[in-house]
Amino acid sequence: MSILVVGSVAFDTIETPHGSAPEVLGGSAAYFAVAASYFAPVKLVAVIGEDFPQEERDFLGSRDIDLTGLTVAKGKTFRWTGRYHEDMNIRDTLDLQLNVFADFAPVLPESYRDAPFVFLANVDPGLQGGVLDQLTCPPRMVACDTISHWITGARAELIALLKRVDLFVINDEEARLLSGERNVVRAARSLLDMGPRSVLIKRGEYGVLSFSPNAIFAVPAYPLEEVFDPTGAGDSFAGGFLGYLAQVNDLSEASVRKAIVYGSVVASFVVEDFSLRRLRSLTRDDIERRYRQFVSLTEF
Ligand code: AMP
Repeated sequence: MSILVVGSVAFDTIETPHGSAPEVLGGSAAYFAVAASYFAPVKLVAVIGEDFPQEERDFLGSRDIDLTGLTVAKGKTFRWTGRYHEDMNIRDTLDLQLNVFADFAPVLPESYRDAPFVFLANVDPGLQGGVLDQLTCPPRMVACDTISHWITGARAELIALLKRVDLFVINDEEARLLSGERNVVRAARSLLDMGPRSVLIKRGEYGVLSFSPNAIFAVPAYPLEEVFDPTGAGDSFAGGFLGYLAQVNDLSEASVRKAIVYGSVVASFVVEDFSLRRLRSLTRDDIERRYRQFVSLTEF
């Protein structure tokens, strides 16, 4: 089963306590698409500028990613600069240049409109809703992400969107901001009341909590000695998660739990190097090996 993703493809400049990486491939849709492509075919919708190098396009194309919906617009590609603190759960955005992303109005190619799995990465909630309007078949699963910028700036649109999605993926600070609840369990309950059938709360190095009306499931992050660059961990988690569900085409509680572990495994590889570098050499066998380690880590 294929997965449609709509979001950003960017050049990131990243500083972490381990070093820095200027102008490297990033963007929520890029991380998601490459992560998901280990499991299922991906259809990407994003915009890039005329400065986007052919070799990065070739890299995305070398994965099972359909680039029909990757538009080249006149101007420069979106750029984001972030600096991580010693505690890498905390980061500051130092610079954001929207460039061609400022006029991003996603139009789905005809061949994308019946995608059974849909991921609305972090963009304006109005645009996320517009993507759903273009689908011709009801998808099996729609998931969405957001950031604090939209929680404070487009709250009503975001809450309207949440009524139309099955799964809301959000980090703990954003969950608190949107719900007004300090406690993460109460925050998740309040987000469920806004409409999604389940809520996945990303907690950085503390892992993921999944909430549905009848179940809570907790998974730790894979314990790594060194985290190099947490950028894109959330989007790669979502890619591994939805990728696995699209591969097995089964939304049972057992498959959703496995998908959470696959998402956590892919994210654990991504943070081992800057940008998407680790995904350039990662194989499905590597993922399976760490999946088994993850299972024995949490078995008792
Ligand atoms: P994450 O670490 O999962 O939050 O994702 C980081 C990625 O999101 C980076 O590669 C950025 O290029 C991208 N990004 C940062 N800010 C924005 C924004 N306002 N809109 C879309 N993408 C963004």
